Amino acid sequence: MDKEDDKYKAHIIVLPYHGQGHMNPMLQFSKRLAAKGIKITVTTTLSNTKAMAAAAAASCSINFESIYDDHAQGGVAGPGGFKGFLERFEATASTNLIHLITKFQDSNNPVKCLIYDANIAWASNVANELAIARASFFTQSCAFVASCYPMHCDLTGVVSPPVPPLPMPGLPELRLPNLPSLGPQVGSYPPIMRYILSQFDNTEKADWVLFNSFLNLEEEVINWMSGLWPVRAIGPTLPSLYLDNRVKDDHDYGFNIFKQETEACFKWLDSKEKGSVVYVSFGSAASLAAEQYAEVGKALVHSCRNFLWAVKPSEEDKLPTNFKSGISWEMGMVVAWCPQLAVLAHEAVGCFVSHCGWNSTLEAISLGVPMVAMPQFLDQMTNAHLVEHVWKVGIKAKTGDGGFSWSEEIRACIEVIMLGERGREIMANVCRWRALAKEAVDEGGSSDVCIHEIIAKLTTF
Ligand code: UDP
Repeated sequence: MDKEDDKYKAHIIVLPYHGQGHMNPMLQFSKRLAAKGIKITVTTTLSNTKAMAAAAAASCSINFESIYDDHAQGGVAGPGGFKGFLERFEATASTNLIHLITKFQDSNNPVKCLIYDANIAWASNVANELAIARASFFTQSCAFVASCYPMHCDLTGVVSPPVPPLPMPGLPELRLPNLPSLGPQVGSYPPIMRYILSQFDNTEKADWVLFNSFLNLEEEVINWMSGLWPVRAIGPTLPSLYLDNRVKDDHDYGFNIFKQETEACFKWLDSKEKGSVVYVSFGSAASLAAEQYAEVGKALVHSCRNFLWAVKPSEEDKLPTNFKSGISWEMGMVVAWCPQLAVLAHEAVGCFVSHCGWNSTLEAISLGVPMVAMPQFLDQMTNAHLVEHVWKVGIKAKTGDGGFSWSEEIRACIEVIMLGERGREIMANVCRWRALAKEAVDEGGSSDVCIHEIIAKLTTF
Protein backbone atom coordinates (compact mmCIF):
# COMPACT_ATOMS: atom_id res chain seq x y z
CA MET A 1 0.00 0.00 0.00
CA ASP A 2 1.15 3.49 -0.88
CA LYS A 3 2.85 5.27 2.04
CA GLU A 4 1.15 8.42 0.87
CA ASP A 5 -2.09 6.89 2.15
CA ASP A 6 -1.11 7.69 5.74
CA LYS A 7 -1.62 11.39 5.18
CA TYR A 8 -5.38 11.23 4.58
CA LYS A 9 -8.05 12.02 7.18
CA ALA A 10 -10.57 9.66 5.58
CA HIS A 11 -11.42 8.00 2.27
CA ILE A 12 -14.64 8.81 0.43
CA ILE A 13 -16.01 7.23 -2.73
CA VAL A 14 -17.97 9.65 -4.89
CA LEU A 15 -20.48 8.30 -7.39
CA PRO A 16 -21.81 10.98 -9.75
CA TYR A 17 -24.47 10.40 -12.39
CA HIS A 18 -22.78 10.57 -15.80
CA GLY A 19 -24.35 13.74 -17.34
CA GLN A 20 -22.43 17.03 -17.60
CA GLY A 21 -24.72 18.89 -15.18
CA HIS A 22 -24.28 16.10 -12.59
CA MET A 23 -20.57 15.49 -13.02
CA ASN A 24 -19.57 19.13 -12.60
CA PRO A 25 -20.87 19.76 -9.07
CA MET A 26 -19.82 16.37 -7.68
CA LEU A 27 -16.34 16.61 -9.17
CA GLN A 28 -15.95 20.06 -7.73
CA PHE A 29 -17.13 18.97 -4.30
CA SER A 30 -14.63 16.12 -4.53
CA LYS A 31 -11.81 18.56 -5.24
CA ARG A 32 -12.77 20.65 -2.23
CA LEU A 33 -12.79 17.60 0.04
CA ALA A 34 -9.46 16.46 -1.41
CA ALA A 35 -8.00 19.90 -0.66
CA LYS A 36 -9.04 19.42 2.97
CA GLY A 37 -7.12 16.16 3.33
CA ILE A 38 -9.67 13.57 2.23
CA LYS A 39 -8.72 10.75 -0.11
CA ILE A 40 -11.25 10.78 -2.92
CA THR A 41 -12.04 8.07 -5.40
CA VAL A 42 -14.53 9.15 -8.06
CA THR A 43 -16.27 6.31 -9.81
CA THR A 44 -18.49 6.49 -12.89
CA THR A 45 -18.80 5.17 -16.44
CA LEU A 46 -15.65 4.16 -18.29
CA SER A 47 -15.84 6.91 -20.90
CA ASN A 48 -16.28 9.61 -18.24
CA THR A 49 -13.50 8.12 -16.14
CA LYS A 50 -11.10 8.30 -19.06
CA ALA A 51 -12.10 11.86 -19.94
CA MET A 52 -11.74 13.09 -16.36
CA ALA A 53 -8.55 11.28 -15.53
CA ALA A 54 -6.83 12.85 -18.53
CA ALA A 55 -8.04 16.35 -17.70
CA ALA A 56 -7.61 16.19 -13.95
CA ALA A 57 -4.30 14.35 -13.72
CA ALA A 58 -2.31 17.53 -13.90
CA SER A 59 -4.25 19.56 -11.42
CA CYS A 60 -5.83 17.52 -8.65
CA SER A 61 -5.29 14.61 -6.38
CA ILE A 62 -8.41 12.61 -7.11
CA ASN A 63 -8.39 8.96 -8.15
CA PHE A 64 -10.74 7.71 -10.83
CA GLU A 65 -12.13 4.18 -11.14
CA SER A 66 -14.74 2.96 -13.56
CA ILE A 67 -17.58 0.71 -12.43
CA TYR A 68 -19.42 0.54 -15.75
CA ASP A 69 -18.14 0.04 -19.29
CA ASP A 70 -20.66 2.06 -21.29
CA HIS A 71 -18.99 1.08 -24.59
CA ALA A 72 -19.18 -2.65 -24.03
CA GLN A 73 -22.54 -2.72 -22.26
CA GLY A 74 -24.30 0.16 -23.91
CA GLY A 75 -24.97 3.71 -22.84
CA VAL A 76 -28.20 5.67 -23.18
CA ALA A 77 -28.17 5.03 -26.95
CA GLY A 78 -28.06 1.25 -26.34
CA PRO A 79 -31.01 -1.19 -26.22
CA GLY A 80 -34.05 0.00 -24.28
CA GLY A 81 -33.01 3.66 -24.43
CA PHE A 82 -32.70 5.55 -21.16
CA LYS A 83 -34.61 2.94 -19.14
CA GLY A 84 -32.50 0.10 -20.58
CA PHE A 85 -29.34 1.97 -19.68
CA LEU A 86 -30.50 2.59 -16.12
CA GLU A 87 -31.29 -1.10 -15.64
CA ARG A 88 -27.98 -2.28 -17.08
CA PHE A 89 -26.11 0.36 -15.09
CA GLU A 90 -27.68 -0.67 -11.81
CA ALA A 91 -27.17 -4.40 -12.43
CA THR A 92 -23.47 -4.09 -13.26
CA ALA A 93 -22.39 -0.99 -11.38
CA SER A 94 -23.89 -2.08 -8.05
CA THR A 95 -21.81 -5.27 -8.06
CA ASN A 96 -18.70 -3.45 -9.20
CA LEU A 97 -19.21 -0.76 -6.57
CA ILE A 98 -19.26 -3.41 -3.84
CA HIS A 99 -16.02 -4.87 -5.24
CA LEU A 100 -14.41 -1.45 -5.42
CA ILE A 101 -15.23 -0.51 -1.84
CA THR A 102 -14.31 -3.98 -0.54
CA LYS A 103 -10.95 -3.78 -2.31
CA PHE A 104 -10.05 -0.78 -0.15
CA GLN A 105 -11.27 -2.16 3.16
CA ASP A 106 -7.99 -3.88 4.09
CA SER A 107 -5.86 -0.92 3.07
CA ASN A 108 -4.55 1.96 5.18
CA ASN A 109 -7.49 3.94 3.89
CA PRO A 110 -10.69 1.95 4.12
CA VAL A 111 -13.68 3.75 2.67
CA LYS A 112 -15.65 5.59 5.34
CA CYS A 113 -18.37 7.13 3.23
CA LEU A 114 -20.13 6.89 -0.12
CA ILE A 115 -21.40 10.14 -1.64
CA TYR A 116 -23.83 9.27 -4.43
CA ASP A 117 -25.92 11.31 -6.82
CA ALA A 118 -29.50 11.20 -5.54
CA ASN A 119 -30.40 9.93 -9.02
CA ILE A 120 -28.51 6.72 -8.19
CA ALA A 121 -30.58 5.92 -5.11
CA TRP A 122 -29.70 2.20 -5.16
CA ALA A 123 -26.17 3.14 -4.08
CA SER A 124 -27.55 3.76 -0.60
CA ASN A 125 -28.16 0.00 -0.27
CA VAL A 126 -24.52 -0.73 -1.14
CA ALA A 127 -23.33 1.61 1.62
CA ASN A 128 -25.74 -0.04 4.03
CA GLU A 129 -24.53 -3.53 3.11
CA LEU A 130 -20.91 -2.52 3.65
CA ALA A 131 -21.69 -0.57 6.82
CA ILE A 132 -20.21 2.74 5.70
CA ALA A 133 -21.70 6.24 5.95
CA ARG A 134 -23.70 7.57 3.00
CA ALA A 135 -24.52 11.00 1.65
CA SER A 136 -27.11 11.64 -1.02
CA PHE A 137 -26.13 14.55 -3.31
CA PHE A 138 -28.92 16.47 -5.06
CA THR A 139 -27.74 18.39 -8.12
CA GLN A 140 -30.87 20.56 -8.32
CA SER A 141 -31.91 23.53 -6.22
CA CYS A 142 -33.35 22.91 -2.79
CA ALA A 143 -36.52 24.71 -3.90
CA PHE A 144 -37.05 22.34 -6.82
CA VAL A 145 -36.44 19.27 -4.68
CA ALA A 146 -38.81 20.59 -2.00
CA SER A 147 -41.48 21.20 -4.61
CA CYS A 148 -41.15 17.59 -5.82
CA TYR A 149 -41.43 16.10 -2.35
CA PRO A 150 -45.25 16.22 -2.12
CA MET A 151 -45.39 14.33 -5.43
CA HIS A 152 -43.11 11.65 -3.99
CA CYS A 153 -45.34 11.32 -0.92
CA ASP A 154 -48.38 11.17 -3.17
CA LEU A 155 -46.82 8.43 -5.28
CA THR A 156 -45.45 6.27 -2.49
CA GLY A 157 -47.93 6.86 0.29
CA VAL A 158 -45.11 8.01 2.55
CA VAL A 159 -46.50 9.80 5.54
CA SER A 160 -43.30 11.23 6.95
CA PRO A 161 -43.23 14.68 8.49
CA PRO A 162 -46.07 16.80 7.15
CA VAL A 163 -45.38 18.75 4.00
CA PRO A 164 -46.51 22.32 4.46
CA PRO A 165 -48.95 23.59 1.88
CA LEU A 166 -47.32 25.42 -0.98
CA PRO A 167 -46.24 28.13 -1.15
CA MET A 168 -43.69 27.17 1.44
CA PRO A 169 -41.79 29.82 3.32
CA GLY A 170 -39.45 31.52 0.89
CA LEU A 171 -40.91 29.82 -2.15
CA PRO A 172 -43.15 31.45 -4.68
CA GLU A 173 -46.45 29.77 -5.27
CA LEU A 174 -45.56 26.80 -7.41
CA ARG A 175 -47.98 26.15 -10.19
CA LEU A 176 -47.73 25.95 -13.95
CA PRO A 177 -45.55 27.11 -15.57
CA ASN A 178 -43.30 27.15 -12.53
CA LEU A 179 -44.16 23.68 -11.31
CA PRO A 180 -41.55 21.15 -12.31
CA SER A 181 -43.09 19.36 -15.20
CA LEU A 182 -42.56 18.30 -18.74
CA GLY A 183 -44.58 21.14 -20.13
CA PRO A 184 -48.31 20.48 -19.85
CA GLN A 185 -48.06 16.89 -18.59
CA VAL A 186 -48.30 17.98 -14.99
CA GLY A 187 -50.19 15.65 -12.70
CA SER A 188 -49.61 12.51 -14.69
CA TYR A 189 -46.07 11.91 -13.45
CA PRO A 190 -44.58 10.97 -16.83
CA PRO A 191 -41.63 8.52 -16.74
CA ILE A 192 -38.97 11.22 -16.49
CA MET A 193 -40.84 12.72 -13.53
CA ARG A 194 -40.96 9.31 -11.85
CA TYR A 195 -37.23 9.10 -12.38
CA ILE A 196 -36.76 12.50 -10.76
CA LEU A 197 -38.94 11.39 -7.85
CA SER A 198 -36.89 8.21 -7.42
CA GLN A 199 -34.22 10.53 -6.00
CA PHE A 200 -36.17 10.36 -2.74
CA ASP A 201 -35.78 6.58 -2.46
CA ASN A 202 -33.59 6.05 0.61
CA THR A 203 -33.17 9.76 1.39
CA GLU A 204 -34.32 9.17 4.94
CA LYS A 205 -31.47 6.68 5.45
CA ALA A 206 -28.71 9.11 4.45
CA ASP A 207 -26.25 10.44 7.01
CA TRP A 208 -26.19 13.68 5.02
CA VAL A 209 -28.34 15.11 2.26
CA LEU A 210 -26.16 17.47 0.26
CA PHE A 211 -27.18 20.35 -1.97
CA ASN A 212 -25.19 22.38 -4.43
CA SER A 213 -26.62 25.57 -3.02
CA PHE A 214 -25.86 27.98 -0.20
CA LEU A 215 -27.74 29.00 2.89
CA ASN A 216 -28.34 32.64 2.03
CA LEU A 217 -29.70 31.79 -1.39
CA GLU A 218 -32.37 29.35 -0.21
CA GLU A 219 -32.44 29.89 3.54
CA GLU A 220 -36.10 29.28 4.31
CA VAL A 221 -36.47 26.18 2.19
CA ILE A 222 -33.16 24.76 3.43
CA ASN A 223 -34.32 25.27 6.99
CA TRP A 224 -37.67 23.66 6.26
CA MET A 225 -36.02 20.69 4.60
CA SER A 226 -33.56 20.33 7.49
CA GLY A 227 -36.58 19.30 9.55
CA LEU A 228 -36.94 16.26 7.26
CA TRP A 229 -33.36 15.19 6.65
CA PRO A 230 -29.80 16.10 7.69
CA VAL A 231 -29.52 18.68 4.92
CA ARG A 232 -26.22 20.46 4.24
CA ALA A 233 -25.82 23.16 1.57
CA ILE A 234 -22.20 22.94 0.42
CA GLY A 235 -22.16 25.10 -2.72
CA PRO A 236 -21.87 26.78 -5.00
CA THR A 237 -19.43 24.19 -6.29
CA LEU A 238 -17.78 26.34 -8.95
CA PRO A 239 -14.02 25.96 -9.32
CA SER A 240 -12.39 27.75 -6.44
CA LEU A 241 -10.62 30.30 -8.65
CA TYR A 242 -13.99 31.97 -9.28
CA LEU A 243 -15.01 32.13 -5.62
CA ASP A 244 -12.55 31.90 -2.73
CA ASN A 245 -9.40 30.84 -4.61
CA ARG A 246 -8.33 28.62 -1.73
CA VAL A 247 -8.09 25.33 -3.67
CA LYS A 248 -4.83 25.21 -5.57
CA ASP A 249 -5.07 24.88 -9.37
CA ASP A 250 -8.86 24.61 -9.29
CA HIS A 251 -9.73 26.76 -12.29
CA ASP A 252 -12.10 24.60 -14.34
CA TYR A 253 -14.37 21.61 -14.10
CA GLY A 254 -11.91 19.39 -15.96
CA PHE A 255 -14.67 17.48 -17.68
CA ASN A 256 -16.49 18.24 -20.93
CA ILE A 257 -18.81 16.04 -22.92
CA PHE A 258 -18.04 18.07 -26.06
CA LYS A 259 -14.83 19.60 -27.33
CA GLN A 260 -14.47 23.21 -26.23
CA GLU A 261 -13.63 25.90 -28.80
CA THR A 262 -11.63 27.87 -26.28
CA GLU A 263 -9.16 29.74 -28.45
CA ALA A 264 -11.77 30.94 -30.95
CA CYS A 265 -14.04 32.15 -28.12
CA PHE A 266 -11.39 34.21 -26.38
CA LYS A 267 -9.92 35.67 -29.53
CA TRP A 268 -13.42 36.89 -30.31
CA LEU A 269 -14.36 37.99 -26.76
CA ASP A 270 -11.10 39.89 -26.35
CA SER A 271 -12.06 42.01 -29.34
CA LYS A 272 -15.32 43.16 -27.71
CA GLU A 273 -16.10 46.02 -25.38
CA LYS A 274 -16.89 45.57 -21.72
CA GLY A 275 -20.43 44.35 -21.07
CA SER A 276 -21.36 44.33 -24.76
CA VAL A 277 -21.78 40.60 -25.45
CA VAL A 278 -24.86 38.39 -25.14
CA TYR A 279 -23.83 34.82 -24.34
CA VAL A 280 -26.40 32.13 -25.19
CA SER A 281 -26.49 28.48 -24.15
CA PHE A 282 -29.21 25.91 -23.53
CA GLY A 283 -26.87 23.47 -21.81
CA SER A 284 -26.07 19.85 -22.48
CA ALA A 285 -29.45 18.13 -22.20
CA ALA A 286 -32.20 20.29 -23.69
CA SER A 287 -33.31 19.75 -27.26
CA LEU A 288 -35.12 22.73 -28.77
CA ALA A 289 -37.40 22.84 -31.80
CA ALA A 290 -35.98 24.32 -35.01
CA GLU A 291 -38.63 27.08 -34.72
CA GLN A 292 -37.20 28.12 -31.35
CA TYR A 293 -33.69 28.25 -32.80
CA ALA A 294 -35.00 30.44 -35.61
CA GLU A 295 -36.58 32.84 -33.08
CA VAL A 296 -33.42 33.06 -30.97
CA GLY A 297 -31.32 33.63 -34.10
CA LYS A 298 -33.64 36.39 -35.31
CA ALA A 299 -33.60 38.05 -31.88
CA LEU A 300 -29.80 38.06 -31.77
CA VAL A 301 -29.41 39.43 -35.28
CA HIS A 302 -32.14 42.07 -34.85
CA SER A 303 -30.77 43.18 -31.49
CA CYS A 304 -27.63 44.30 -33.36
CA ARG A 305 -25.62 43.18 -30.35
CA ASN A 306 -22.54 41.01 -30.31
CA PHE A 307 -23.35 37.46 -29.38
CA LEU A 308 -21.60 34.20 -28.60
CA TRP A 309 -23.91 31.19 -28.96
CA ALA A 310 -22.95 27.69 -27.82
CA VAL A 311 -25.00 25.14 -29.78
CA LYS A 312 -24.14 21.55 -28.94
CA PRO A 313 -23.24 19.38 -31.95
CA SER A 314 -26.48 17.35 -31.89
CA GLU A 315 -28.51 20.58 -32.26
CA GLU A 316 -26.50 22.35 -34.91
CA ASP A 317 -28.61 21.20 -37.84
CA LYS A 318 -31.62 22.96 -36.28
CA LEU A 319 -30.05 26.38 -36.76
CA PRO A 320 -31.61 28.33 -39.63
CA THR A 321 -29.98 27.57 -42.99
CA ASN A 322 -26.78 29.54 -43.47
CA PHE A 323 -27.13 31.19 -40.05
CA LYS A 324 -23.60 30.34 -39.02
CA SER A 325 -21.98 31.35 -42.28
CA GLY A 326 -24.25 34.40 -42.70
CA ILE A 327 -23.18 36.28 -39.58
CA SER A 328 -20.08 38.42 -39.68
CA TRP A 329 -17.21 37.60 -37.29
CA GLU A 330 -17.51 41.11 -35.88
CA MET A 331 -21.11 40.57 -34.93
CA GLY A 332 -21.39 37.08 -33.58
CA MET A 333 -20.01 33.62 -33.22
CA VAL A 334 -21.57 30.17 -32.94
CA VAL A 335 -19.48 27.46 -31.27
CA ALA A 336 -20.28 23.87 -30.37
CA TRP A 337 -19.15 24.13 -26.75
CA CYS A 338 -17.19 26.71 -24.80
CA PRO A 339 -15.51 27.03 -21.41
CA GLN A 340 -18.71 28.55 -20.00
CA LEU A 341 -17.27 29.66 -16.69
CA ALA A 342 -14.42 31.56 -18.27
CA VAL A 343 -16.82 33.04 -20.82
CA LEU A 344 -19.19 34.27 -18.10
CA ALA A 345 -16.24 35.68 -16.17
CA HIS A 346 -14.99 37.61 -19.24
CA GLU A 347 -15.63 41.32 -18.88
CA ALA A 348 -17.11 41.55 -22.39
CA VAL A 349 -20.13 39.45 -21.40
CA GLY A 350 -23.09 41.52 -20.20
CA CYS A 351 -26.03 39.13 -20.49
CA PHE A 352 -26.60 35.37 -20.36
CA VAL A 353 -29.54 33.92 -22.29
CA SER A 354 -29.89 30.60 -20.50
CA HIS A 355 -32.10 27.53 -20.14
CA CYS A 356 -31.56 27.92 -16.38
CA GLY A 357 -30.00 24.55 -15.70
CA TRP A 358 -29.01 24.63 -12.04
CA ASN A 359 -25.28 24.82 -12.73
CA SER A 360 -25.71 27.60 -15.26
CA THR A 361 -27.94 29.50 -12.83
CA LEU A 362 -25.42 29.22 -10.00
CA GLU A 363 -22.59 30.15 -12.36
CA ALA A 364 -24.40 33.31 -13.51
CA ILE A 365 -25.11 34.26 -9.89
CA SER A 366 -21.57 33.51 -8.74
CA LEU A 367 -20.00 35.42 -11.61
CA GLY A 368 -22.41 38.34 -11.49
CA VAL A 369 -23.98 37.97 -14.94
CA PRO A 370 -27.68 38.90 -15.34
CA MET A 371 -29.85 36.40 -17.16
CA VAL A 372 -32.60 36.15 -19.74
CA ALA A 373 -34.29 32.93 -18.67
CA MET A 374 -35.58 30.56 -21.33
CA PRO A 375 -36.33 27.36 -19.37
CA GLN A 376 -37.26 24.24 -21.33
CA PHE A 377 -38.41 21.69 -18.74
CA LEU A 378 -38.24 20.24 -15.24
CA ASP A 379 -36.19 22.17 -12.69
CA GLN A 380 -35.34 24.82 -15.27
CA MET A 381 -38.92 26.12 -14.90
CA THR A 382 -38.53 26.51 -11.13
CA ASN A 383 -35.05 28.01 -11.46
CA ALA A 384 -36.26 30.57 -14.00
CA HIS A 385 -39.04 31.62 -11.65
CA LEU A 386 -36.59 32.07 -8.78
CA VAL A 387 -34.20 34.00 -11.05
CA GLU A 388 -36.90 36.47 -11.99
CA HIS A 389 -39.09 36.77 -8.90
CA VAL A 390 -37.09 35.73 -5.84
CA TRP A 391 -33.45 36.60 -6.48
CA LYS A 392 -34.32 39.19 -9.15
CA VAL A 393 -31.18 38.48 -11.16
CA GLY A 394 -32.83 38.23 -14.55
CA ILE A 395 -36.05 38.17 -16.48
CA LYS A 396 -37.92 35.33 -18.06
CA ALA A 397 -38.83 35.46 -21.72
CA LYS A 398 -42.57 34.87 -22.04
CA THR A 399 -43.74 31.96 -24.13
CA GLY A 400 -46.67 31.87 -26.51
CA ASP A 401 -48.42 29.12 -28.46
CA GLY A 402 -46.36 25.96 -28.75
CA GLY A 403 -44.29 26.99 -25.75
CA PHE A 404 -41.93 29.11 -27.86
CA SER A 405 -40.53 32.52 -27.02
CA TRP A 406 -40.80 34.78 -30.05
CA SER A 407 -37.88 36.82 -31.33
CA GLU A 408 -39.40 40.17 -30.34
CA GLU A 409 -39.88 38.98 -26.76
CA ILE A 410 -36.33 37.61 -26.51
CA ARG A 411 -34.93 40.80 -28.01
CA ALA A 412 -36.97 42.95 -25.61
CA CYS A 413 -35.67 40.94 -22.62
CA ILE A 414 -32.07 41.36 -23.80
CA GLU A 415 -32.63 45.11 -24.11
CA VAL A 416 -34.05 45.29 -20.57
CA ILE A 417 -30.92 43.61 -19.24
CA MET A 418 -28.43 45.58 -21.33
CA LEU A 419 -30.09 49.00 -21.13
CA GLY A 420 -32.10 51.03 -18.67
CA GLU A 421 -33.19 51.22 -15.07
CA ARG A 422 -34.46 47.67 -14.54
CA GLY A 423 -31.27 46.27 -16.05
CA ARG A 424 -29.22 48.31 -13.58
CA GLU A 425 -31.29 47.02 -10.67
CA ILE A 426 -30.87 43.45 -11.85
CA MET A 427 -27.14 44.01 -12.16
CA ALA A 428 -26.98 45.37 -8.61
CA ASN A 429 -28.91 42.34 -7.34
CA VAL A 430 -26.69 39.82 -9.08
CA CYS A 431 -23.60 41.55 -7.68
CA ARG A 432 -25.06 41.25 -4.18
CA TRP A 433 -25.74 37.53 -4.64
CA ARG A 434 -22.29 37.09 -6.07
CA ALA A 435 -20.72 38.48 -2.90
CA LEU A 436 -22.87 36.14 -0.77
CA ALA A 437 -21.90 33.13 -2.90
CA LYS A 438 -18.22 33.90 -2.36
CA GLU A 439 -18.76 34.40 1.34
CA ALA A 440 -20.53 31.02 1.67
CA VAL A 441 -17.58 28.99 0.40
CA ASP A 442 -14.83 31.13 1.89
CA GLU A 443 -13.27 30.30 5.25
CA GLY A 444 -15.96 30.24 7.95
CA GLY A 445 -18.80 30.70 5.44
CA SER A 446 -21.97 28.60 5.74
CA SER A 447 -20.94 26.02 3.11
CA ASP A 448 -17.37 25.84 4.42
CA VAL A 449 -18.67 25.17 7.94
CA CYS A 450 -20.87 22.32 6.65
CA ILE A 451 -17.92 20.74 4.83
CA HIS A 452 -15.75 20.92 7.96
CA GLU A 453 -18.49 19.41 10.07
CA ILE A 454 -18.83 16.45 7.66
CA ILE A 455 -15.07 15.87 7.64
CA ALA A 456 -14.85 16.11 11.43
CA LYS A 457 -17.61 13.55 11.85
CA LEU A 458 -16.05 11.17 9.32
CA THR A 459 -12.73 11.20 11.08
CA THR A 460 -14.43 9.93 14.25
CA PHE A 461 -16.10 6.96 12.51
N1 UDP B 1 -21.26 24.25 -20.17
C1 UDP B 1 -20.02 24.41 -20.72
N2 UDP B 1 -19.93 24.86 -22.01
C2 UDP B 1 -21.01 25.14 -22.77
C3 UDP B 1 -22.28 24.98 -22.19
C4 UDP B 1 -22.39 24.54 -20.88
O1 UDP B 1 -18.99 24.18 -20.07
O2 UDP B 1 -20.84 25.53 -23.94
C5 UDP B 1 -21.36 23.77 -18.77
C6 UDP B 1 -21.91 24.82 -17.84
O3 UDP B 1 -20.85 25.63 -17.34
C7 UDP B 1 -22.59 23.99 -16.76
C8 UDP B 1 -22.96 22.70 -17.47
O4 UDP B 1 -22.26 22.69 -18.71
O5 UDP B 1 -21.69 23.72 -15.70
C9 UDP B 1 -24.42 22.59 -17.79
O6 UDP B 1 -25.12 22.30 -16.62
P1 UDP B 1 -26.57 22.89 -16.34
O7 UDP B 1 -26.99 22.35 -15.02
O8 UDP B 1 -26.57 24.35 -16.47
O9 UDP B 1 -27.45 22.34 -17.51
P2 UDP B 1 -27.67 20.89 -18.16
O10 UDP B 1 -26.61 20.72 -19.18
O11 UDP B 1 -27.56 19.89 -17.05
O12 UDP B 1 -29.03 21.00 -18.75
